[in-house]
Amino acid sequence: MYITKRSEFNVPHSQGRFLSRAQKTNNRKRFRLFVLSILGGWDTMRRNMNDLRIQENVSLAPMSTFGIGGVARYFFEAKKSEELKEAVQWAVKNDISYKIFAGGSNVVFADEGFLGLVIRLIFKKMKVSDSERVIEAEAGVWLADLIKKAISKGWAGLETLSGIPGTVGGAVFGNAGAYGQSVSGIVKSVNFFDVEGGEAGILSNEECGFKYRHSIFKDKNFSILSVILQFQAGDKKDLKAKSEEIVKTREKKYKPGLRCPGSFFKNVLVKDVSKKSLALVDKAKIIDGKIPAGWLLEQVGAKGLREGGIYIADFHGNLFVNDGTGTARDVKALARILKKKVFDKFGIQLEEEVRYF
Ligand SMILES: Cc1cc2nc3c(=O)[nH]c(=O)nc-3n(C[C@H](O)[C@H](O)[C@H](O)COP(=O)(O)OP(=O)(O)OC[C@H]3O[C@@H](n4cnc5c(N)ncnc54)[C@H](O)[C@@H]3O)c2cc1C
Repeated sequence: MYITKRSEFNVPHSQGRFLSRAQKTNNRKRFRLFVLSILGGWDTMRRNMNDLRIQENVSLAPMSTFGIGGVARYFFEAKKSEELKEAVQWAVKNDISYKIFAGGSNVVFADEGFLGLVIRLIFKKMKVSDSERVIEAEAGVWLADLIKKAISKGWAGLETLSGIPGTVGGAVFGNAGAYGQSVSGIVKSVNFFDVEGGEAGILSNEECGFKYRHSIFKDKNFSILSVILQFQAGDKKDLKAKSEEIVKTREKKYKPGLRCPGSFFKNVLVKDVSKKSLALVDKAKIIDGKIPAGWLLEQVGAKGLREGGIYIADFHGNLFVNDGTGTARDVKALARILKKKVFDKFGIQLEEEVRYF
């Protein structure tokens, strides 16, 4: 039987009223695990954990491009979709909360970490159908590898996304895009696992509800297992040249190794903005029906602003950078300040593209 040591609780109970909400939640979860041990379920739970290779107390920060985050109480890397299902079942059975991520290039892990199971999707098989110009990619395939494969075949459709980090599943989740293309443009269908219902299913492109940086997967508790993508015919040499040119341009903004999650806020759709707000915007800055968040932020003096270890790049208003000492708390504080400044000046509410985890 597992006995919870007193030191596992953050502080003595008498100080409880001074704890943050997150700490209180963590302590409640620890208490639940303690009760579980008393009820005798712990031995079975640990046996199953060993079978599944679930690790304990794993640091999340190195797994995100932002380099922020505490420890996952339980951590599991799913190499196959069946393993994802098994890990979720383990968590549900033991009343443990769980979260899923993949490449870690668009997440802000909490400073407190996560007192549940964090599952990283790393299944990475690709199936190519030459005759149909179709690739079926598992969710954990690196977007870069998928693009490279398509270009090697002379297939167009994703070449301008070259240089975007992360996985195919992550790209579908947020409908990643750049320089006029987005993943939704070539998705035929998505195989998913309904985490709550415990069943797998398939969604067509239309059913994925794609919009600018949005898909149905942001609203539902569905895990993307694999994606079928339909490419168009292209010229291998041209596609390669385009891809290399874009990677070079991107590397000027995102120097390799920069601790950041890409653009922090979403650009703002003109159709969502009131006439009064639009009158305050320089129309020359509007691109493809969107007001760049970077421009709005620069108008309120964002460049170079700092909160703790997080600062805004001095060359781009929408680029949050971690100097190596930054915390999720710093990120949220800076985001709050900047949102208020933009709202006060333009009456526009910025929305995060990154996902708080
Ligand atoms: C330097 C840099 C530049 C970037 N440039 C761009 C850009 O130009 N355009 C752009 O669109 N984005 C850009 N991004 C953001 C990021 O790369 C993309 O959003 C990427 O698609 C995220 O994929 P990921 O695997 O890293 O997702 P993660 O960061 O691991 O997860 C992001 C979210 O997706 C969810 N998720 C991930 N995989 C799955 C899955 N299989 N099923 C269900 N949910 C899942 C997670 O739960 C989380 O909520 C940039 C990021 C960086 C660091």
